[in-house]
Amino acid sequence: MGAGAAGTWAAARAARAGARVLLLEKTPRIGTKVLASGGTRCNLTTTLASEAAGRLFGREGGRFLRPAFRALSPAALRERFGSLGVETVEAPLEKVFPASQRARDVRDALEAEARAAGVLPRCGAAVAGIESLGAAGGWRARLAGAGAVRCRRLVLCTGGASVPRSGTTGDAYPWLRELGLEVVEPRPALVPLRSGADWVRELAGVALQEVEARLVAPTGETVRRRRPVVFTHEGLSGPAALDLSRHVTADGGAREILLDLGVGTGREELRRRLIEGAASPGAGSVARALGLDVPRRVLDAACRQAGLVDSRSAVSELPRARRHDLVEALKGLAVPVEGSLGFDRAEVTAGGLALAAVDPATMAVRGHPGLWVCGELLDLDGPIGGLNFQAAFATAELAGRAVASEA
Ligand SMILES: Cc1cc2nc3c(=O)[nH]c(=O)nc-3n(C[C@H](O)[C@H](O)[C@H](O)COP(=O)(O)OP(=O)(O)OC[C@H]3O[C@@H](n4cnc5c(N)ncnc54)[C@H](O)[C@@H]3O)c2cc1C
Repeated sequence: MGAGAAGTWAAARAARAGARVLLLEKTPRIGTKVLASGGTRCNLTTTLASEAAGRLFGREGGRFLRPAFRALSPAALRERFGSLGVETVEAPLEKVFPASQRARDVRDALEAEARAAGVLPRCGAAVAGIESLGAAGGWRARLAGAGAVRCRRLVLCTGGASVPRSGTTGDAYPWLRELGLEVVEPRPALVPLRSGADWVRELAGVALQEVEARLVAPTGETVRRRRPVVFTHEGLSGPAALDLSRHVTADGGAREILLDLGVGTGREELRRRLIEGAASPGAGSVARALGLDVPRRVLDAACRQAGLVDSRSAVSELPRARRHDLVEALKGLAVPVEGSLGFDRAEVTAGGLALAAVDPATMAVRGHPGLWVCGELLDLDGPIGGLNFQAAFATAELAGRAVASEA
């Protein structure tokens, strides 16, 4: 149920293996979110190998995904799409796109494969609830409006709660809770961050390509991403900010992101440049002494955090304590963040069905015969770069196989 990436893949896989499959979808079409993905280009997987890709889902997520990525690695997924007529190309940040750069081609290939495999899609069919048929075996899915569908095996792939206008309104969370299953509180992830600081919003439009963003997660762990960031009218966006956002939207989430403006240049080196700049004849500005490739207005912000007027301040007039503060500000420009732009703008949902409730080898829900869950409905979320589709397809591969083997 749910004809997104995971549901359509699982349905086709199960049908190819001989199962009779009905695919219920709330929206009028298959793959609604696939169409919107990757800026309508669909970053369908990653160039990373399975192990490295898995690690990006954290320790628990990585371990859980091991069998799925073994069953369908990123390279195997590319091959499979190739055999469905979708050639792929690599792009920076370990991304993989269809060679046509059209998400529609990915969606069309998924739909064509499902139909060719014998899947019966039923779009515009929103499920309003599910119930186990108990000792009789099987499940009943109640449709919104009227009617119900009975089946022996039910695969839930209703996605998360992000971008609700694309059909994903978190419908399955209460159903799972009613079954007594643990659902980790869903929250937005891969989402732009909000900052109340005027200086941050005044930098709207400024992008930093060579930067490392870091924060202290609620667990106490320091998490780093070396990827671009962009200042916006609301706060902070860009790949690094999106990747870190799950730690901001978490309970007790981080309230500050530190930007290392001098990636590859250590504190000692920065100190040396400032000292030598001050000692050189005709000593100039702090900006000149530092020689960093950082937009002037961002450098100004770092200088202000260190108590200077801006980066034009004379380097020769920098007292020792200020020099120390400036080096610290350059290695960790503190950007206050106070939350995110919410589910409407989140690419994925963190939280979902607790992984402990699911057998990672089959995606079967423990203690509930005939029920499987895969895709984003699980408590899994990865960084940007095709990881989330990779997880959706790979978990669906296992679910599809397992459902068919019990047919
Ligand atoms: C704007 C945007 C861009 C993205 N770009 C990328 C990208 O480039 N690369 C990447 O890896 N990830 C990307 N993602 C994330 C990716 O789209 C998801 O991780 C992925 O789609 C999850 O697959 P899924 O099948 O689990 O869920 P979904 O694709 O969300 O599918 C769930 C389906 O279930 C249906 N459904 C929900 N409730 C019901 C119900 N009650 N009854 C019937 N049907 C129901 C929904 O309508 C939906 O079609 C992007 C997300 C967004 C929002």
